[in-house]
Formats: sequence, structure tokens, C-alpha cells
Amino acid sequence: MTLHADRAARIAAELPDLDWIVDPLKVGRLSADFSWFSPVLKQQLAGKRADAVVRPRTEDEIRQVVAACARDSVPITIRGSGTGNYGQSTPLQGGVVLDLSGYNAFGWARNGVGRAQAGIRLADFDKAARPLGHELRWLPSTFRTATLGGLFGGGFGGAGSINYGPVAATGNVLGARVMTVEPEPRVLELRDADAMLLHHTYGTTGIVLELEVALAPAQSWMEAIAVFTDFEKALHFANAVSANPALIKKDVCFLGAPIPQYLTPIAEFLPEGCHAVLLVLAECSESGVRQVLAEHGGEMTYRKTADDVQASGRTLIEFTWNHTTLNALKHDKTLTYIQSAFDPLPNDYLGQIVALEKQLGGEVLMHLEFLRTKEGGLNCSGIQLVRYTTEARLNEIMQIHRDLGVRINNPHVYVVEDGKQGKVNPAIVALKARLDPQGLLNPGKLRGWEERTQAVAA
Ligand code: FAD
Repeated sequence: MTLHADRAARIAAELPDLDWIVDPLKVGRLSADFSWFSPVLKQQLAGKRADAVVRPRTEDEIRQVVAACARDSVPITIRGSGTGNYGQSTPLQGGVVLDLSGYNAFGWARNGVGRAQAGIRLADFDKAARPLGHELRWLPSTFRTATLGGLFGGGFGGAGSINYGPVAATGNVLGARVMTVEPEPRVLELRDADAMLLHHTYGTTGIVLELEVALAPAQSWMEAIAVFTDFEKALHFANAVSANPALIKKDVCFLGAPIPQYLTPIAEFLPEGCHAVLLVLAECSESGVRQVLAEHGGEMTYRKTADDVQASGRTLIEFTWNHTTLNALKHDKTLTYIQSAFDPLPNDYLGQIVALEKQLGGEVLMHLEFLRTKEGGLNCSGIQLVRYTTEARLNEIMQIHRDLGVRINNPHVYVVEDGKQGKVNPAIVALKARLDPQGLLNPGKLRGWEERTQAVAA
């Protein structure tokens, strides 16, 4: 029960035709995400929950809820599938969780562009787009459950970012249909840079109803695992495959020992003590990858054709990105993780990685996802596992990275600006003032807005 409990209950009673969830256990579950990956957030967000959850299926139902909440000043926290990592869809101040997973129709895909309602699961989007010759440019490892709106509102990228960069790269997202939070909600179409102001703002800025995104040509993908006894050889192999313009790939994931040992479902392909590179490739690139592998002294222990992958329903993508963390946590609950951005070419990201392995190996376990940065440079993103002892030591570890010139996108914070965004963006705050003038969306998560409110009050 929060301050808003009575008003939330009144709204639910006023709109009986909508799908309301008020059972306390279910409301608790639908107020949580995967912030438990972080021992720090787990503690900070304990007990934070909504008063009610609503699952609208049409734009009109969304409008009814939003109008009622705006009239009664009840906070709204938007939820897709709740796979976010930073408590992004956990309400700090109660109110209503607006679960958009039922607002999920596929729209269209043509000429390299596609559009759908925000609650569509990424797997369903891909399934609908493939027969039309297209696929999504990025599949987070949560693609089976995560929604398009959730990836845009709280995600980064995924398999495919090695070709198209993060979601944030200019040209990936083309438009967003957005509903304002007002007693008479308005619907606007924001294009290009205006739409991007809503990206990775944890649903604090506006309610995204539909997204229009640039797509990739549909491709059949095979999967392979290469293993090595030497850390640096494995790293250089992963880098060589990633850099080679003739090799078509969708994901290159490097896992330093002992991480492969945590991937229990594929343990038979991962010899004890190995360093592994998980690959999602075009079939025409297999022989090229094998040549690079021979040059680096590795061995291919796993190979599935695109047809095998389709038929089995199992994909290595679900062992990459933060699924590596999930698998490791199933194995050892004392682990946590950090996220880092190395210094891209022409700077020496491989040198930074080797230096960190030498300094912190054993305590920080190296997991890298190769990608193109927003600007197009080859780089990799670290999602290192950490043997957690104390919050102070965790902060020290992150500082050691920063001291080496490695940027940390801290996953142990829930405020937008304390994570990847890094600082207050006045354009985002100004857009929020237009779309959510009362500040009802996910209150407490956008520092720029909280500071503005205090300044106005003063
Ligand atoms: P939610 O968690 O429900 O929401 C995320 C944020 O977006 C919330 O703040 C919410 O308020 C906001 N939001 C949701 N819908 C809307 C909307 N319609 N309008 C405005 N705001 C909205 N992330 C990656 O980028 N790549 C990965 O590979 C990846 N792998 C992961 C693996 C695991 C095991 C886990 C637990 C997480 C991973 N993530 C990854 C993080 C997460 O899965 C992605 O961010 C995902 O796309 C979120 O989708 P969702 O539907 O679950 O969003």
C-alpha cells in the first residue's frame, strides 16, 4: 500500500472493463524486473511496488487509464515484459503499472523499415518480418520475452549490434507514436532525433505506443563455438572475426575462463578451463571463420547449421549478453556484474582488456560482446562478472576501470543519468515537460526532472 493506493483502487473501480490485476502477489511480481542481478539494487528497491497493474489492449483503453491517472495525479510506471536490469519498471512511489504487453500488434515491414505496437515481443516482430524479407537489427538475448517498447525504453542492443551498433545509433529508430499524460491525453508522432529523446529514459518521458525502426535484410544464421587454451589468442580471434569485413556475423561473444563452466546446458562443448567464443554467422562465412580459427590455434566444438538452429529452437544468443550473467548466477549466487565501454579504435581496447585481465582476473571474469559503436568504430562492450564481496569493493573495481580509460555504464543504479546517459540532458527534460507536465511517469528516476521540480518550487 502506498500513498496512492486509494486513488488507484478508485480508478480501477471506475474502469471495470479493463484487465486490472490487484492480487498483491501478482502486483508485486509485476512491479519487479531483473534488478536482483545487483546486490545493491536488490537492497535499495526492496518493497517498492505498484498499487495496481492494468493491462490495456487498445489505444482507447490506454487513453482511459492515462486520463484517469492524470486527473487524480496517480504515478504511472510503464512495463513491457519486465526484463530490464536496473529496476526500470519498478515504481518508487506506487501508483499504477501500465503493462503494455497486450498492446502488441505487428504493423508492417517494407523497404527496410518496420512498425509495430510497443508491446510486441521482439521474437514475434522478427517472425512477422522474416517472410517479408526483413529482420530486426538487434536481438537482445531476452528477445523471446522482451518487447519492442521495452528495448527502446530501457535496452541497449544485442545480437546484431556488431553490424548496426546500439539502438541509439542515428538511423536505427525512425519514429515513435507517443501519448501524453494529461487529463485529455494527446497522441503525437515524433520523428528521428525527437523520437530518440525517449530512448533509454526508463519510461519517464512519454508513453510510446508504436515504434518505427529500420530493419536488416532477413538472413539464415548458423551458430558455432570456438574454444582456446590461451586468453589472448581467443580474444584476438574474436576481434579478427569481428573486424573482417568479408565475414558476415550477427554476434561474437567472448567468454574468458571460468565463465564457460557456468553455461551448464552447453557444458559438453566447453572443455574445463577453456576460453570460448560464441558465434552467430552466415553460412557462407563458415569457411572464412575456420581459416581465422586455424591461424589463432582454436578448436570448433559446436556447429549448428541454420536449419539445425531453427529445428532445435535453441540458440546460442540465449547464452550471450546478460544471459551469460543469468546462467552464471544460476551457478553461483555470489556473482554480480558490471558493464563497460572500452576505448574504440584507433585506441587500444584489446590492450585495456588484457591489462584488466592481468590486474583483476579471478575476481572480475571477462565477458565481451563485440559491436560497432554509435559512431561506427569496432569495439566491444564488457559485461564482466564480478565475485561480489562488498559495495565498496565493487565501486573500487569500477574505479580501476575508469582509471584505465574504460567507461563504466553502472548497472547498480536506478536513476537514468547515473547509468549509461551519464548526465542530465536538458532536451529530455524539456520533452518530458511537454509530454508529462505533472511528472507522473516513473517518478524519481529522471534526475533532470527532479532538479527542475525543486528549482521551480524554490
Ligand atoms: P521492461 O523491462 O518492461 O521495460 C524497460 C524500461 O522501458 C522500463 O523503464 C519501462 O518503463 C520502459 N518502457 C517499456 N515499454 C515502454 C513504452 N511502451 N514506452 C515508454 N517506456 C517503456 N538488454 C539489451 O539491450 N541487450 C541484451 O542482450 C540484453 N540481455 C538481457 C538478458 C537478461 C537475462 C536480462 C534479465 C536482461 C537483458 N537485457 C538486455 C535488458 C532487457 O532485457 C532489455 O532492456 C529488454 O529489451 C527490455 O524489454 P522489456 O519489454 O522487458 O522492458
